[in-house]
Amino acid sequence: MSMGIPRFDHREQYRTIRREVLEAIDQVLESSSLILGPRVREFEEQFAHHLGSGGHAVGVACGTDALAIALRALEIGPGDEVITVAHTAAGTISAIRMAGATPVFCDIDPDTLQMDARDAARRIRSVTRAIIPVHVYGNAVDMPAITHLAGGFGLKVIEDCAQACGTTLNGRAVGTFGDVGCFSFYPTKNLAAYGDGGLCLTADRALAERMRNIRNYGFGPIATAEVEGVNSRLDEVQAAILTVKLRYLAQYLHHRRAIGQAYRSQLSSRCVIPKTTDGAEHSHHLFVIQVEQRERVISRLRDAGIEAGIHYATPVHLIDAYRSLGNGEGSLPVTERASTRVLSLPCYPELPIESVERVCAVVNDAVTG
Ligand SMILES: *Cc1c(COP(=O)(O)O)cnc(C)c1O
Repeated sequence: MSMGIPRFDHREQYRTIRREVLEAIDQVLESSSLILGPRVREFEEQFAHHLGSGGHAVGVACGTDALAIALRALEIGPGDEVITVAHTAAGTISAIRMAGATPVFCDIDPDTLQMDARDAARRIRSVTRAIIPVHVYGNAVDMPAITHLAGGFGLKVIEDCAQACGTTLNGRAVGTFGDVGCFSFYPTKNLAAYGDGGLCLTADRALAERMRNIRNYGFGPIATAEVEGVNSRLDEVQAAILTVKLRYLAQYLHHRRAIGQAYRSQLSSRCVIPKTTDGAEHSHHLFVIQVEQRERVISRLRDAGIEAGIHYATPVHLIDAYRSLGNGEGSLPVTERASTRVLSLPCYPELPIESVERVCAVVNDAVTG
C-alpha cells in the first residue's frame, strides 16, 4: 500500500530550511522591534529587487488587504465600479467591497481561463474606475490588452498576483504592468509565510507612501494622518521568514515548472489543460485540468489516497453572499462552464515526480474508462 498524496504540504520544505528560519525568528525575538522594523524594510527592498521592478514594495497583513489598500490609496471607493473576474478567490471581491466600491464581473477566456479583455471592455461605464485582472493559477492575464484598454478610458489597473508570484509575461514579472501589483504570502502560495502576509508593489513613489500610511492607521513618519487608514501590517517575524524563503524562490519555481512539465507530458489528451497565455512563463501555483466527468475522477483519486481540489466550484457571482450584486446564473457563461470542469491536482515544489506519475495514471484511467 503506497502513501497518500496531499494536494499541498508545507512541512517538507520547512525541514530543508528549518535552521535558517529558526535563526531568523530568533533574531527578531531578540531584537527590540516586532512591528514595522528593519526586517519588513529589508524584505520589501529585496522583494521589489527580485521582481526586477525598480519599484516600491509595501508589506501588509494579507493579499486581500493589499488589494483593498491599493484601491483606497487610488481613492477608489463608494460609487465607483471595479471590473474583475468571478473566476477567482473570494478575497478579490471582498477587497473591492472593503474599499466601498462595487465589483462588476466580466467573463474569462475559454482557452486560458484568464480575464477576457474584450468582455471587460463591454462592462465599462462612466462610473468605472479600475480593472483588477487576476493571474489565476499562476498563468498570466494578457496585460498589454488590459493596460491598453485601461489607458483608453483612464482606468487604474491593480493586478491580483496572489497566485502568480514569479510568473512572467514577455520576460517581465506580473505585478509590474499595472498601477499596483498585489501579492499574498498565504501558506500555500508560491512565496509563502508561516501565517498570513501580503504586499503591494508600485513604481509610483507617492502612491507607495500613501499605501505605507494606510496600512498603519493612516499615519506617516510624522504622526499626522492625511488619509484614513487601517491596521494591516506585515509583521517582523513573517518578514524575516519571507526573506529567508525569497532566497529559494527561484528554486521553488523551478520545481513547480518541472511538475507542470511532467503533468503535461503524461496526462491523457482527454484532460484539457488551460492554455498558457502567449509570452507567459507559468509559475504553476496550481496545476489545473478540465474534465467532463469530474466526480468520477475525484472519487478515483480519493480511492488512491490522492487529494484534489477545485478552483473554483462556485464562481464568486453565484456565492450566496454576493448574489445581491445582481449577476444571476448564465451571466458569465465561460466562467460557469469552467467551474463545472476544473480540477486542481497536487502541486507544490517538494512533490516528487514519481507522485505526479501516480496521479497521472489514476486520472488517465478515470477519464478513459
Ligand atoms: C489567496 C488569494 C487572495 C487572498 O489572499 P489572502 O492573503 O488570503 O488574503 C486573493 N486573490 C487570489 C486570486 C488568491 O488566490
